[in-house]
Amino acid sequence: MKIIEDKFLPSHFVSRYEDITPEFLKAHNIKAVMTDLDNTLVAFDAADADDNVLKWIKTLEESNIKLLILSNGNHKRVSGFAEPHGIEYISAAKKPMLANFHRGLKILGTKKANTVMVGDQLMTDILGANRVNINSILVVPVKEKDGWATYLNRRIERVIMKYFKRKNMITWEE
Ligand SMILES: [Mg+2]
Repeated sequence: MKIIEDKFLPSHFVSRYEDITPEFLKAHNIKAVMTDLDNTLVAFDAADADDNVLKWIKTLEESNIKLLILSNGNHKRVSGFAEPHGIEYISAAKKPMLANFHRGLKILGTKKANTVMVGDQLMTDILGANRVNINSILVVPVKEKDGWATYLNRRIERVIMKYFKRKNMITWEE
């Protein structure tokens, strides 16, 4: 069904954020990354950035790729993660609503075609990205378990992922 694909099919599937290298991004003409936080960069219950995340962010910086965390997490959670490392962020973003995707694009100063949203949830990260018409990358959640707020989203997501699988639309990239 075209409507499901239009709304929920990500541009790319990767196992984890570390697979999103500057080379990968440049190959797809991406100059700025908006990324989800919980279960995309760290487990939903991990408070701080770990060395791997910081290393990844540094690698992007060195390649002049801009980064912004776009998270539905509350201000305390997201600022506590981002501010110690000088990472730009928008908290309580209400994805998949569009307002903060637009705000994010403004902060990054890049065109939609050169911007990507990275996230672990079809119902928030990918749906929002597709609605605002930017590129999107779905990652496998860092931790299987996540917060109670995503319980329903995950159930719907399983149905959509089954559909994509049946249609051979899921192509994991290294
Ligand atoms: Mg998430």
